[in-house]
Amino acid sequence: MNVLFVASELAPFAKTGGLADVIAALPAYLHRAGHQVLVVVPLYDTVDVSKAHFEAVFDTDLRLGDHQYQIKFFRVGSGPPIFFVHCPALFGRGRIYTSDSDEHRRFLALQFAAIILCQRMGFAPDIVHAHDWQTALLPMMIKTLFARDPLFAKTRSLLTIHNLNYQGSFPSAIGPDTNLGSVAHLFHNELLSAGRVNFLLQGVLYADGITTVSPTYANEIQTEAHGAGLDGFLRARRTTVVGILNGVDYGEWSPECDRLIPHRYSAADLTGKELNKQALLESLGLPYQPRVPVFGIVSRLVSQKGFNLIAPVMPELLRRHGFQLVVLGSGEPGLEDMFSRLQRAFPRQVCFYRGFKNDLAHLIEAGADAFLMPSVYEPCGLNQLYSLRYGTVPIVHRTGGLADTVRPWNPSSGTGNGFLFEHHDEAGLRWAVLAALAAYRDPAQWQTLIQNGMAQDFSWEVQGKLYEWVYQRLGEGN
Ligand code: ADP
Repeated sequence: MNVLFVASELAPFAKTGGLADVIAALPAYLHRAGHQVLVVVPLYDTVDVSKAHFEAVFDTDLRLGDHQYQIKFFRVGSGPPIFFVHCPALFGRGRIYTSDSDEHRRFLALQFAAIILCQRMGFAPDIVHAHDWQTALLPMMIKTLFARDPLFAKTRSLLTIHNLNYQGSFPSAIGPDTNLGSVAHLFHNELLSAGRVNFLLQGVLYADGITTVSPTYANEIQTEAHGAGLDGFLRARRTTVVGILNGVDYGEWSPECDRLIPHRYSAADLTGKELNKQALLESLGLPYQPRVPVFGIVSRLVSQKGFNLIAPVMPELLRRHGFQLVVLGSGEPGLEDMFSRLQRAFPRQVCFYRGFKNDLAHLIEAGADAFLMPSVYEPCGLNQLYSLRYGTVPIVHRTGGLADTVRPWNPSSGTGNGFLFEHHDEAGLRWAVLAALAAYRDPAQWQTLIQNGMAQDFSWEVQGKLYEWVYQRLGEGN
């Protein structure tokens, strides 16, 4: 099949979260499986262009309403070709996402650029695979503005929702910038008369298929509690909503071959894990003490991730049980301050590294004993999957992809790979941390937990096949 991927992130060039990892790995899998795949992403000024050879391919003008842009395409890639859209006026902002008044135009430009690229290359996609609000207008664009272009005569569209809470909601005054002015009736009418347009909703309404990144999240987003206002629309399309867990690129994330950690190890020989723990603590200036467990956190620091439970629960647990906690992340100032205060209160036990640092993320996965993800909601979650692979026992709230991948530890049967708490409250987190500490005190139990996790396979070779199945099914709808 010919598959066009359009997205706002791509690891390692532009990443704020899991979306970037998926856009790097899923097209690579599809390419290996014999499909023709094109990937189109923005060339932000933050992209490190020394990471690859960027070959200029062609230039074009783009008009969005009254706004005129100059666009250059650069091609990279030895696997599936990746096309970067260079437009400093839009993508030169020092960061990936902004709250600037032209945020909608930045990603409209990306979507139009992807269509122009197909036209220039004579690439007729069987599937246009859009991701999140930044590319969610593509299904509608193909069905309206480009409906007469024979290149798209057979194209079917798939929208993957990586996080329903980011919707791209803008004032309806941006309408003319979509170049869809004459067909404004295509936008959701009630919302339009309330003065808004919502890009993700348009995708939900127009995409031929909808997937999200775990089976549990696929159900959750159809409920009022987790539907972020779109649950009714998703319920109306329930037969097209499919949950597919993200895979892991084990070429990047495996303790056997990870080039970013000082000591490699495997399930058969965990010696290197303990050495990584020492290296981790040393690099962060914390004392290493054998048999003292280290908990890790690597995360965007946003309310979704549930760290509001840390301040009321952790100080007492740290004081009583003496374990250590290493935290890597940045985000909301209130959460950054909370972790800074925790570090000041427990200087020998807690280290908070504020920032985004890929090699430290790998070292935490490798060196920590347990990994904390108390997310309020979690569409898929990648870090618990990485943790399982690295023998780092996940402690999570039972929600979304966490519920689908972490199985509760049962000491009597020796089954399970981690700890889940049911209700997102202080008692839940406290219970889960105490249960993990109790298991850690028994080396045989902990070994079994580690082995159970490391034996699991969430590779793209498995998950990618499910996407192929969805593409196939959409194709048959022609
Ligand atoms: P989300 O997409 O909601 O941020 P995921 O768990 O799906 O959450 O993916 C997070 C990805 O981003 C993982 O690859 C994780 O290692 C990475 N990540 C998050 N925060 C940081 C950070 N501060 N430094 C390095 N990597 C990070």
